[in-house]
Amino acid sequence: MADCIFCKIINGEAPAKKVYEDEYCVAFHDISPQMPVHIVVAAKRHVASILEFKEEDKEFVGGIQLAIANIARELGITENGFRVINNCGKDALQTVPHLHYHILAGGKMGAKIV
Ligand code: AMP
Ligand code: ZN
Repeated sequence: MADCIFCKIINGEAPAKKVYEDEYCVAFHDISPQMPVHIVVAAKRHVASILEFKEEDKEFVGGIQLAIANIARELGITENGFRVINNCGKDALQTVPHLHYHILAGGKMGAKIV
């Protein structure tokens, strides 16, 4: 999609510190990290959110989930743990309308998500 920053990163039209890529997603350091480790995992398909997936997208959805686990292993954050977040829609304060997950790690987080 023309004006989508994550599409531009995926296409190489915008810079990003990429850490992982496969057929389903691209992962890169968040530009405004909320934790010492803050990775954005963006779907390699422009959909605004998980709400747009259909039955036939099961492999794609599962591929992203497996990628998240692989990224966590590659980053060396599996022992201490990490948080995976998907903000969906306005109440969740989703700011980039291109499906993505946040991987947060590198320190103790709060017991509550909100
Ligand atoms: P969300 O609020 O869930 O939509 O998350 C969007 C995330 O993308 C925020 O954490 C932003 O800091 C991050 N972000 C926005 N633009 C960029 C960019 N050009 N490179 C890396 N991260 C970005
Ligand atoms: Zn996009």
